[in-house]
Amino acid sequence: MVSRCANLPCPATFRYLREGRLFHVPMESAPPEKGTRVERFWLCGDCSTKVTIVPHSSGIAVVPLEKEAKHRKRSINASRRQDSPAGA
Ligand SMILES: [Zn+2]
Repeated sequence: MVSRCANLPCPATFRYLREGRLFHVPMESAPPEKGTRVERFWLCGDCSTKVTIVPHSSGIAVVPLEKEAKHRKRSINASRRQDSPAGA
């Protein structure tokens, strides 16, 4: 169960659901026959404005929000390229 902020250097402890952000992260290392195991992680209000949680080979990784936004922008650009008619 979630007991503290997933951002390791942060000392905040989990008290209220309305505070911060809760993440449901599918663990890819789980055996497929048992279905995807989902772990819950929590970021406190302060950390959730600066960082986010992404699935990682060793569990999760805490990454700065700007990095995540850039990654998302790239994938949006890629899908736009696919949508544009080629030579039509
Ligand atoms: Zn925190």
